[in-house]
Amino acid sequence: MNEHEKELIDRLEREHSLTEEEYARLIDGRTDEARQYIAKKADAVRQAIYGRDIFTRGLIEISSICKNNCLYCGIRRGNKNAQRYRLLPEDIYACAESGYSLGFRTFVLQGGEDPYFTDDVLTAIVSTLRERFPDCAITLSMGERKRESYEALYRAGADRYLLRHETADADHYRMLHPPEMSFEHRMACLQALKEIGYQTGAGFMVGSPGQTSRTLARDLKFIETFKPDMCGIGPFIPHHDTEFRDCPAGDLYLTLFLLSVIRLILPYVLLPATTALGTIHPLGREMGIQAGANVVMPNLSPVDVRKKYELYDNKICTGEEAAECRGCLARRFSAIGFNLAVSRGDVKR
Ligand code: SAH
Repeated sequence: MNEHEKELIDRLEREHSLTEEEYARLIDGRTDEARQYIAKKADAVRQAIYGRDIFTRGLIEISSICKNNCLYCGIRRGNKNAQRYRLLPEDIYACAESGYSLGFRTFVLQGGEDPYFTDDVLTAIVSTLRERFPDCAITLSMGERKRESYEALYRAGADRYLLRHETADADHYRMLHPPEMSFEHRMACLQALKEIGYQTGAGFMVGSPGQTSRTLARDLKFIETFKPDMCGIGPFIPHHDTEFRDCPAGDLYLTLFLLSVIRLILPYVLLPATTALGTIHPLGREMGIQAGANVVMPNLSPVDVRKKYELYDNKICTGEEAAECRGCLARRFSAIGFNLAVSRGDVKR
């Protein structure tokens, strides 16, 4: 690590901001030593705010049916080989019930943009969850919807919304999505979510096709200025039935480096060590936590549908029951000095 790199990292820690050019330089110039240096700072910052607690979110993958055709995604509309399923409201409540008894106090409903989940259907599900689990946070990750829809869901009791921006560079966005999807619309959705009052999550894949240090620098600038409450970043992993099948997966060490950078930009951010990170390396999630992450999102979906929610190849934890997952994670994290919290794990501001 040269003096310049160290100076950039020290300044980022102090000021939580760099220029886009500096972010790009930080990424291009990174060395193992710089990665360890910044990870140590990120760990200290997270420790000062959230201690040694890791927050868990029970992920319920409610549908693999999607009207969109994102080029990277295994459940894109155009994938004729994808296995489609949809959970019924009763299935979703049962997942939440079992999750609650295991210690989950946040449920994340994620899915493709399945037209079945109209505002009426989804608000009814959210209201029921709100009533049955008054001490839990309800997070939605159901893609782009109308502002009125986000408002109705918020009124029904949803607290948080995850909508990764995917890339903050409009040209890059067009390389990853079909022409009918728009960068402006996705960004407008994020803005609306924030204005409505949701704890809002943005994020992006690391190593998605066409990504450069310039586009990543834009992502970091966007994170710095938009100030999301959550930021989901994980490596891109190719799916065999998409046209990106032969593209390389995102790099483990770059992902870890960016987790630390984001922790320094937004000290209070809720930062997951993602399943994708655990997929590209057996200890990926542990390393993510050590680089500054403080959230994990194990799967609460019924075991018989898990393999069907296949966004990318070789996804981990598709064979175990939720209880096994939670036990496994608790052991893994306690081995590195962290504990799985039984709490909503709201963002501190
Ligand atoms: N339909 C919802 C949920 C999408 S799935 C929405 O639009 O927000 C959640 C995230 O998985 C996506 O935002 C994307 O960043 C990630 N993802 C999709 N395909 C992936 C792949 N091949 N590799 C890694 N992550 C992927």
